[in-house]
Amino acid sequence: MQSYESLPDNKGHFEEFGGKFVPETLMAALEELEQAYKQSKGDKSFKEELDYLLADFAGRPTPLYFAKRLSDKYGAKIYLKREDLVHTGAHKLNNCLGQALLAKKMKKKRIIAETGAGQHGVATATVAALFGMQCQIYMGEEDIARQQPNVERMKLLGAKVIAVTSGSKTLKDAMNEAIRDWVTNVTTTHYLIGSVAGPHPYPMMVRDFQVVIGLETKQQIVEKENKMPTHIIACVGGGSNAIGIFYPFLNSSTGTARRARTKLFGIEAAGLGLDSGKHGAPLARGNKGILHGSLSYVIEDDFGQITEAHSISAGLDYPGVGPEHSYFKEKGLVTYDSVTDAEALNGFETLSKTEGIIPALESSHAVAYLEKLKMAKDDLVIVNLSGRGDKDLDIVKKAGLK
Ligand SMILES: *Cc1c(COP(=O)(O)O)cnc(C)c1O
Repeated sequence: MQSYESLPDNKGHFEEFGGKFVPETLMAALEELEQAYKQSKGDKSFKEELDYLLADFAGRPTPLYFAKRLSDKYGAKIYLKREDLVHTGAHKLNNCLGQALLAKKMKKKRIIAETGAGQHGVATATVAALFGMQCQIYMGEEDIARQQPNVERMKLLGAKVIAVTSGSKTLKDAMNEAIRDWVTNVTTTHYLIGSVAGPHPYPMMVRDFQVVIGLETKQQIVEKENKMPTHIIACVGGGSNAIGIFYPFLNSSTGTARRARTKLFGIEAAGLGLDSGKHGAPLARGNKGILHGSLSYVIEDDFGQITEAHSISAGLDYPGVGPEHSYFKEKGLVTYDSVTDAEALNGFETLSKTEGIIPALESSHAVAYLEKLKMAKDDLVIVNLSGRGDKDLDIVKKAGLK
């Protein structure tokens, strides 16, 4: 068996998953991006500039916080990795900073992206402002109506928000429009994908930009506890915050090394329930298919059409998942499970009231999984708190939380 560490191969495959399913006109752009990325990886000045921005602009390293009252409640030692404290309120900026620097290196003057709830749009508009680049964000008409505050934020940051009126007027249609724009303007424009999805090299590159979460965590937990965690929990939409924290803790070895292995849990959105047909859990209830330029698990209808995903947390209602997660699932390297909207709301309330931290509804899925996880007194559990919950107050209020 190939080790996960050598993947993807040079065509972007994680065994059967991944690849580059894009129009011929984009092949050269993907090649250019891959070359620029490879060069930047070995380039000391690129690393220094990114490290500087991650520290002084984004606010890294984020703390690894010992959640004492939460630990008392669940009877194990629980830490929170505080990505909610990153500038703009979530982990997404880590990746946007990396890609914007690459865009600068490739002399692109314009950045485009699609967004569902607007979080990735805000992070993209932020880095475009930081680098003085033009920015155009594609967003479904439905989502624009539902996510007004983020639309206002993007505009304030200088981005142009384009309403997408085709199809279901949501994320997947916005994705198609962004790809269409890229095909037309490929020489001047960088397409900034927000998760470990899309065609090669995006899943690899976004993973590498988010791995900072896991590298910091590993150092911090050793400093604080002098041992490795027994469990790490993260929510999975496209899968970037999860892969970022998991990656340095993956271990495919057998024998004695296996015993000490940290167990990794990726939590998808079960929405109204996995059997309701209204969920966002392609790994739990999807089929293999092609979405957004790569092969992975996707949610589709009986005719093989990609359908809309449903979750109370907008960041988790992407109908696909990054191809490397499909590979991890197949190899048993990560355990994937799901929690419902109702369970996530409980997690949201629990963390708010026991720790004074209001989590994003996405992150609340990871928090909620503490209810399901079998823990012992000596266990050392880390929850990746991918973002803060201020953006979700309206949704939570409408859902009728006390
Ligand atoms: C976008 C978002 C997610 C989901 O994206 P991943 O790529 O799966 O990490 C999770 N949490 C927050 C706070 C987000 O904004």
